[in-house]
Amino acid sequence: MPDCVFCKIAAGEIPCRQAYEDDSVLAFYDIHPQAPVHILIIPKAHIACGAAEVTEENSALVGRCFEAAARLAKELGVTGGFRIVTNNGPGAGQTVSHLHFHLLAGRELGLTMG
Ligand code: AMP
Ligand code: ZN
Repeated sequence: MPDCVFCKIAAGEIPCRQAYEDDSVLAFYDIHPQAPVHILIIPKAHIACGAAEVTEENSALVGRCFEAAARLAKELGVTGGFRIVTNNGPGAGQTVSHLHFHLLAGRELGLTMG
């Protein structure tokens, strides 16, 4: 297994507050939440580094992550809107080199994205 914190969470070696799981996707609450709802959605498979490594071979997992996001937004009753963010590379603030999506909700998220 890669020396990767999200792979260790997916393997159950590091605990998390789980929000959703299926055969290929895991969602869990971010330890440093930036919104009242801040969930990380990851493919269980290690896709390093991030969005830049999405290919024809693995892009179905991106769809599965977005399916999980839609399901979570419904389950959590997110009504005021939500945002899905993925950071790619240190210049964009990426700190964990395993493809993941931030699901943010529960506060006014503003119109700026940069
Ligand atoms: P990024 O900066 O886009 O790579 O996002 C990585 C996110 O992972 C950050 O928001 C961290 O707070 C979060 N994070 C790191 N380690 C853990 C952990 N063990 N459990 C939950 N969230 C984590
Ligand atoms: Zn990983």
